[in-house]
Amino acid sequence: MTRTPSLFDLSGRTAIVTGANTGIGQAIAVGLASAGAAVIAVGRSAMDATKLKVDGTGSPFLAIKADLASTRPIAGLIDQALDWRGGIDILVNNAGIIRRADSIDLTEQDWDDVMDVNLKSLFFLSQAAGRVMLTQPTGGRIINIASLLSYQGGIRVASYTAAKHGVSGITKILANEWAAKGINVNAVAPGYIITNNTEALRNDQERSATILARIPAGRWGEAQDIAGAVTFLASDAARYVHGITLPVDGGWLAR
Ligand code: NAP
Repeated sequence: MTRTPSLFDLSGRTAIVTGANTGIGQAIAVGLASAGAAVIAVGRSAMDATKLKVDGTGSPFLAIKADLASTRPIAGLIDQALDWRGGIDILVNNAGIIRRADSIDLTEQDWDDVMDVNLKSLFFLSQAAGRVMLTQPTGGRIINIASLLSYQGGIRVASYTAAKHGVSGITKILANEWAAKGINVNAVAPGYIITNNTEALRNDQERSATILARIPAGRWGEAQDIAGAVTFLASDAARYVHGITLPVDGGWLAR
């Protein structure tokens, strides 16, 4: 019996993943590579561990050094991506930081730092990739990494909450403008995932226990749990999906 090609096959596609040296970004890079995509890992740190894992899938890999605290590297990294592969099919805006402080104490620096990486660079990198994708007959996919704090207020993370609500809004407006032009823009909202980002929370025994008690799945998420949802949104299986922020949260929002 001959099988039809998998709706989830990404062979021949090129994906940019920001913040791919660790955590969720690394798992997404490996997930997309496992589905067949060539991966461009973008970030400010060495990508050696990610390269090793992607090499293990047999998919092509390129690392590009870029500090997304500013928009300056964006034009250059798009040029490097085009030089390497001639097109960009998938952009995953994953790079993000968090600053924890009571709102009464949050500094302007904490505000700007989080906004710059989590929202400003995400928008302008989407714009730059969008300009390429709009010229491609095959269009493209943009997947933003949002948060439960795209839906909820959280506590002691004002700039992060503002930025992640913004990510959900930007996802919708870009979908509205580009859906008919061949680009699917969506977001994934991870629940509580074991990465560097949540180390402080996990070290706080009381907060950690309270969080766990609310998760219907009965466990914290793992970075790989996010990779599947991103691979789905990057694939032909999601070709009619536009503008959503998909929670991958062990049921947290259902409570
Ligand atoms: P992480 O392990 O701290 O990873 C964050 C990634 O972003 C790292 O690769 C980091 O690079 C990169 N990054 C930060 N600032 C950057 C900059 N200026 N330029 C380039 N790259 C930069 O945390 P994570 O949990 O995997 O986070 C990934 C995404 O998921 C973030 O957008 C985060 O907000 C989101 N998220 C996480 C959770 C969770 O529970 N973990 C929940 C909801 C949403 P360096 O290693 O060089 O700093």
